[in-house]
Amino acid sequence: MKRDDLLDLNDVLQHPGRKLEVDVSTELPEEEDLDLVKPLEGYLEAVSTGNILLITGKFSTRAVLECARCTEPLEVDVEFEIDEQFPVEGIPSSYNSGDFARVAADEPFEMFEGNNLIVENLLRQGLLVEIPLQPLCKFGWDGDCPIARAKGRAAAPGQGRPEFEKLANLIKPGEDGV
Ligand SMILES: [Zn+2]
Repeated sequence: MKRDDLLDLNDVLQHPGRKLEVDVSTELPEEEDLDLVKPLEGYLEAVSTGNILLITGKFSTRAVLECARCTEPLEVDVEFEIDEQFPVEGIPSSYNSGDFARVAADEPFEMFEGNNLIVENLLRQGLLVEIPLQPLCKFGWDGDCPIARAKGRAAAPGQGRPEFEKLANLIKPGEDGV
């Protein structure tokens, strides 16, 4: 199977200390749940110590999310850094060992095909961790958001804030008839 998002790291793996730097720009076409306003752009650096493959990088994009309170579309800048380590098996071929080094990644989902990094899988993982779980528009939880008001989502306790709801119950026990 040929994939166009593979980054060949074999040269890096067979030559510990040799650094590969690449600029990456992708729209993560396989990520259907994510609406990006602009491509995910950044750079990756890869270097092997012989036993460990180090991959670092920095990326940014802009995603369309939904306000957790009023559910209006909301554009959010997302930035994240990559800092990953993968174990390497075998002896680099540049040591004239008759052997060769290979990535022995033990990941919950596929990150490598042989010594090729599946770039989009690495970036998807980094991006999803960084996406805010409860993004808010400029009115936040308590502001007088006209859209939230129109939808009956005024700044009332319990609107998506279970921790505040618990506090309210502590302050006024039994008020709701319990
Ligand atoms: Zn909102």
